[in-house]
Amino acid sequence: MEALFGYKRMLRIKDERIAALETENAMLYLKLAQSRSEIERIRKAKNVVVRLYEKLRQSVLLIAQNIDLEVKILKEECADLRAVVFSFLQGTPAAGAAAASKAHLQITRFINHSIDLNATAADTKSQLITCQMELDSVRERYAVEKSRRKNLHNELVEIRGNIRVHCRVRPILDLDNSDKSGWDEPIIMAIDEEIVSVQPPAVRRTFQAELPPAKTYEYDRVYGPDDGQANVFQDVKPLIVSLLDGYNVCIMAYGQTGSGKTHTMLGNPESDQPYYGEDSSPVTEAREGIVPQSAREIFRLLEAKGDELASYSVDVSLLEIYNNEIRDLISGQNKLDANTGPEGTIEVPSLQTRSVSSVTELMKLVRRGTSRRAEDATLIHDHSSRSHFVVTLTVTLIYKFSDVLLSESQPLISFMRRQPREATVLTPPLSRTSPLDSPSVLSCASSMTDFGVVYSPSLIAESKVRVKTKLQLVDLAGSECVGMSGVRGSALRESSYINRSLSALADVLGALAESSSHIPYRNSKLTYLLQDSIGGDAKLLIVTCVSPTQKYLAESQQTLGFGCRARMVQRGPVKKRRQSQGATSSRSPKSRSRSSPLLAKAKPRFY
Ligand code: ADP
Ligand code: MG
Repeated sequence: MEALFGYKRMLRIKDERIAALETENAMLYLKLAQSRSEIERIRKAKNVVVRLYEKLRQSVLLIAQNIDLEVKILKEECADLRAVVFSFLQGTPAAGAAAASKAHLQITRFINHSIDLNATAADTKSQLITCQMELDSVRERYAVEKSRRKNLHNELVEIRGNIRVHCRVRPILDLDNSDKSGWDEPIIMAIDEEIVSVQPPAVRRTFQAELPPAKTYEYDRVYGPDDGQANVFQDVKPLIVSLLDGYNVCIMAYGQTGSGKTHTMLGNPESDQPYYGEDSSPVTEAREGIVPQSAREIFRLLEAKGDELASYSVDVSLLEIYNNEIRDLISGQNKLDANTGPEGTIEVPSLQTRSVSSVTELMKLVRRGTSRRAEDATLIHDHSSRSHFVVTLTVTLIYKFSDVLLSESQPLISFMRRQPREATVLTPPLSRTSPLDSPSVLSCASSMTDFGVVYSPSLIAESKVRVKTKLQLVDLAGSECVGMSGVRGSALRESSYINRSLSALADVLGALAESSSHIPYRNSKLTYLLQDSIGGDAKLLIVTCVSPTQKYLAESQQTLGFGCRARMVQRGPVKKRRQSQGATSSRSPKSRSRSSPLLAKAKPRFY
């Protein structure tokens, strides 16, 4: 009865929280939609201005061609005039008078023409300046709206937490009853989209007079056996938007061997169908895990950015951390060193990267990498992965700062640079000797020079902005206890390294939860390498994977407990800053492994 009241109260509190969050979410979605439609409106306005600019550009080019032609004619006429003056001085008065009247006509025509040219040039110049001002203002509004959209999106992601924990309960598989123990009864269930419940095992239910209540665990999102890859990726999508907005992102799968980590991250390698990237058929895509789907989304978003970007690149590196050593899965090189680079980012200097331009290319590399991955059979699962597998996608975006001007003004810029010089070639012989020293000719030349204001060198110099972000996708090694999987010898050594690195991960998350002044990233290669994508304003998603059956109950509970505690990182109240216990180096990795609060085993009431 008491339990029922407890449930009801919990439900009410949950309903209230949902209502509050839904309102906040709805407001943000509304603002986001407004921002997006504003961006669309500005984009259209920008297109109009760009078309106007193009028209003006054509007319300036036409004027430039005309001026070239006129300069040529004038040069010829000057030569004629010189000949006339020469014959006037040398020849008869009648011939001189005829030559003088011809010269007068030519001078008048020349002056009129110069005035015309000057007027057209001044007019075009003022139109160009207006057009540029409009373009500047549109570009400014566009930038403001884009950053508003970016902030709103980030707010939405942050409402859900910079560290999110999801839980995926896989379907029952043959391997759950491989020893015919009959322990394949599903006792771990997704109750709704946020709650997983663990029922008391069948044997207890039969013999106990009063049933202990089921234990529940709450996550940011829960997927049941029927939730496919597409459902899981729906919640990953916003993080890919954040990635292209400039935030580092890390997505990792945690759980015991056989719980569905590789399935979640890469796809289904067991099926006879290709599980990623061979083609783009819906069947293939339905099987794809987070890695290929994220890459697909990245390329889609990059395409959608279109004319905003001058260029972009997606670089891939693949590594595994095996026995706390980094191995390059592209080059096969072992024992690589990681260090902090000049920009404060974590780097593995000798790690090879490959530039990719499609999902197929990426997944071919990944496939080669996975076949190199260290594996050892355990009793749980034939292809037990005993190493952490990290796929890093580095996305570099080069934004056009002054989009149109840069790419389209080259002919104009070269014309502007050339024209004043040619104009001065025209003036010197005439300037001191004759009435051809006309102010209109000189001002015509200087007007053209003034166009240089429109294309100031600083504008051209500050024209590109580079953004580099990192997406790290991690298929962690199995989190099972050594005893459980029956490993001995070298595999036992592997397991202890795995335990240590996972406990180091737990310590890091614990220190983040406490807002500790020191986060012990350096306690394992795994946490050191993921430092950029776990701390700061980076976004971290942990997908905890569990089997639904009684057979793996102890391991599943350990995973569920880890997930719940990791979730407290964002949700828990921010405590006063202090030196974290995890940060003290006096503790041996072994003792850390035992005492790590995040790794501590859950103690359900009914065992
Ligand atoms: P892990 O990487 O955690 O050791 P796997 O991803 O290899 O586990 O999963 C073990 C087996 O279970 C694989 O055959 C995989 O295809 C299957 N499996 C895991 N999760 C699911 C799921 N959600 N739906 C269908 N099959 C799954
Ligand atoms: Mg695996």
